[in-house]
Amino acid sequence: MTDTNEKIIKTLIIGSGPAGLAAALYTARANLEPLILSGMELGGQVSVTHIVENYPGFPEGIGGPELVENFQKQAERFGARLEFDSVTEIDFSSRPFRVKTWSNEYLAETLILSTGATPRHLNIPGETELTGRGVSYCATCDGHFFQGKDVIVVGGGDSALEEGLFLTRYVNSVKIIHRRNELRAGAILQKRAFDNPKVEFVWDSTVAEVKEANGIVSAVTLKNLKTGTETELKIDGVFIFIGHDPNTQLYQGQVDMDAEGYVIADRFMQTSVPGVFAAGEVADSHFRQVITSAGMGAAAGMQAIHFLEEHSA
Ligand code: NAP
Repeated sequence: MTDTNEKIIKTLIIGSGPAGLAAALYTARANLEPLILSGMELGGQVSVTHIVENYPGFPEGIGGPELVENFQKQAERFGARLEFDSVTEIDFSSRPFRVKTWSNEYLAETLILSTGATPRHLNIPGETELTGRGVSYCATCDGHFFQGKDVIVVGGGDSALEEGLFLTRYVNSVKIIHRRNELRAGAILQKRAFDNPKVEFVWDSTVAEVKEANGIVSAVTLKNLKTGTETELKIDGVFIFIGHDPNTQLYQGQVDMDAEGYVIADRFMQTSVPGVFAAGEVADSHFRQVITSAGMGAAAGMQAIHFLEEHSA
């Protein structure tokens, strides 16, 4: 049954990653009683990150789930409210904005879009069918299933190397399959990977197919992009880290986006719709750090506060 909540919310935050929770903290401290709609995954991508080593204030690092819990507690301490719910429909055409969720309907004077981004897929035969049966997009979630096994990691960025290194805790070997012969990842991670005896690189190559035996991953077909040669590699797991796509389908056609589908926000986090702000990876394909997302969230929160001051009757 749908329970329509006609009370107008001053600030509705869509998404509960570092951006959304930081926006909640700032708007809560201004007594706006923000409502955060968590989406499918409370905390977003950082909630499935084993350890965060580059968020200032935690010199020994902090577990992703623990950091999210801290963010949430801090925002709730000042009056933010979190609902485990996802948006199904949204209307930016007039203010207050109407937002429908699985279980409710809201009217909001300001919106903060912080729905993040989702890991990209290779779109090759076997990938979807074998997801959860040897194909994974999360080493922290699935690494322990591969104790003593041989796995591949696809990608050459920070995520591929960081997650590949994390997997060496469990697995016998990690082959990192990269489509070029030069990594995109930063120097520190590169050095750690080159120094790790369990990590090997397969250059200029891509995965053309994931194969199964008895319902689980058994091998991949590798294609050398320079020679065109295809070879089969027996393997137990395939971890894919080839970037992300922004979660902006809900806002399609209602707010300006760039060619890759990221919401365009100015340096005040203002989108093309007055009163709608965007923060974190939904509007940032470049930095993608917990600290930058949290910073954007804080800025969006501050601007929502200013907007409401200027537009209150
Ligand atoms: P990314 O930097 O975009 O790297 C994606 C990698 O996947 C690239 O090496 C790319 O190859 C490869 N790739 C893309 N599409 C592919 C395809 N269809 N087939 C095969 N390979 C493909 O993504 P990311 O590693 O997820 O990192 C995203 C951002 O988060 C970056 O800014 C990164 O610095 C940041 N990050 C930081 C940390 C950290 O600081 N500890 C950790 C994780 C992520 P090419 O290189 O040839 O394009």
